[in-house]
Amino acid sequence: MTDRTVRYQLNESEIPTNWYNLVADLPEPPAPPLHPGTHEPIGPEMLAPLFPMALIEQEVSAERWIEIPEAVRDVYRQWRVTPLHRARRLERHLDTPAKIYYKYEGVSPAGSHKPNTAVAQAYYNKVEGTRRLVTETGAGQWGSSLAFSGALFGLEVDVYMVRVSFEQKPYRKALMEAYGARCVASPSEETEAGRAILAKDPDSRGSLGIAISEAVEMAMQRDDTRYALGSVLNHVLLHQTVIGLEAQKQLEMAGDYPDIVLGCTGGGSNFAGIAFPFLGDQLRGGRRVEIRACEPAACPSLTRGRFAYDFGDTAGMTPLVKMHTLGAHFMPPGFHAGGLRYHGMAPLVSHIRELGLIDAYAFNQLDCFEAGVTFGRTEGILPAPEATHVVKGAIDAALECKQSGEAKTILFNLCGHGHFDMQAYTDYFAGKLTDQIYDEQDLQKSLAALPQVG
Ligand SMILES: *Cc1c(COP(=O)(O)O)cnc(C)c1O
Repeated sequence: MTDRTVRYQLNESEIPTNWYNLVADLPEPPAPPLHPGTHEPIGPEMLAPLFPMALIEQEVSAERWIEIPEAVRDVYRQWRVTPLHRARRLERHLDTPAKIYYKYEGVSPAGSHKPNTAVAQAYYNKVEGTRRLVTETGAGQWGSSLAFSGALFGLEVDVYMVRVSFEQKPYRKALMEAYGARCVASPSEETEAGRAILAKDPDSRGSLGIAISEAVEMAMQRDDTRYALGSVLNHVLLHQTVIGLEAQKQLEMAGDYPDIVLGCTGGGSNFAGIAFPFLGDQLRGGRRVEIRACEPAACPSLTRGRFAYDFGDTAGMTPLVKMHTLGAHFMPPGFHAGGLRYHGMAPLVSHIRELGLIDAYAFNQLDCFEAGVTFGRTEGILPAPEATHVVKGAIDAALECKQSGEAKTILFNLCGHGHFDMQAYTDYFAGKLTDQIYDEQDLQKSLAALPQVG
């Protein structure tokens, strides 16, 4: 039987003991974050009101390996090591000579990769005396992951949730509340940033950039409160590398090594998690891997954005970071992969794209849902709308192999399940989804408003 299910399972004692920091192996370091006023590189003191010192140190670290605290590994044990599957039924369905492997992060309590960093962030905050965490969330995956982690470590959690997703995904809010968090639709009347947006546009659908402004504003107001970000920053990408490190061991069990590694990219964290350990091996003289980032055509920061200094949020409260950006005022259309609706991209992911170490592909919503349904019908797991982008990318790669006759090994990160996103699938089956395209004029306006940095 060629389609026998294969699952490469490791014992919990094989959970990595260190996270992998790609910065240690880069041929040149990424550009530093800048102070929004002076445009000088910022020091740790500027980040101190927002993050605990341990995370700030990780943010600027060039150490290759950073130890995972035992208390964090202890929580990871609940669902890690996550399974690596060979997608034999999908391979057969596609009639491809390629081997397709996927790492499945949907087995976490929140249903995605996000707890890998949420647990770590909650832990370091607890140790340094934080009592309350404030954050934003797109589709609700990050909000529920931080709510879960806050519950474990005894922290209050407040979540500003992008309004379009707040309305599309009511069960994510219910999950956050079940974990004891407070969830507010953004833009809200609770913050200056939110009120300013609503004054201009009372029907604003919101964006991650606006929700970040609200969360940062709230975090700055109280000494016992800090901010937490679910993607983009170096320390978040670092925590996600457990995915790729585990996958390396599991592929070793399978006697394979990937030719192509894929991840979907919203802010870049799950992509970095699967790809960076393999890229690191390549940079240290190991085998070359082709790495593909898969993003939505409706919010195409890596394929259509400009590599420039920009704000991480809409109100201009964060430091300036150099990244592929559509501009902090860009308002992406309200497509269903809410976790991919961010105007920018992780500076580290942007940097390696500039260095030519990765490729980027943009896909339309309808093609992605079609790929997601194909995956569900062959492998049995219905991907989150975000994850359908990487499924589409992997299927395309496998079909390229069919054309060329090459039996390549493909590895992708199935970053989450779609059980909280069934309305999106219902709409897809009812023919109500369209390929939403951003407004080119809006994009040009947004890019013209990028901050001018020397
Ligand atoms: C949040 C999320 C994403 C996008 O975030 P990244 O930082 O790019 O990983 C993608 N998929 C799922 C399932 C998510 O929850």
